[in-house]
Amino acid sequence: MKKREVHFGRNVHTLESACVGCGKILDGAFGFDFERRKGPAPKPGDVSLCFYCGTPMVWEGDDMRLRAPTAEEAATIAGDERVQLARQLIKEKDRTPESAAS
Ligand SMILES: [Zn+2]
Repeated sequence: MKKREVHFGRNVHTLESACVGCGKILDGAFGFDFERRKGPAPKPGDVSLCFYCGTPMVWEGDDMRLRAPTAEEAATIAGDERVQLARQLIKEKDRTPESAAS
């Protein structure tokens, strides 16, 4: 199988938000579309996956808080190829030896 090239956007710092899935505090983000954007990223309405457990969430409001997606959003998110790719990367991260050694 051909290995796919993935380009991540720049890292951005966000306000601290707790993951709705595992409760870990998230204070940064990186994404697939950031580089191409002129405005701030992420922006409200963007989908975010927890770096630790892969739970999908949605950025909301001017202060950029993470919330659980609605049922409708969850269905859209589940069908998004980028989300599936990101989830795969999050799973693979847990298998790399570097992340275990600390
Ligand atoms: Zn989580």
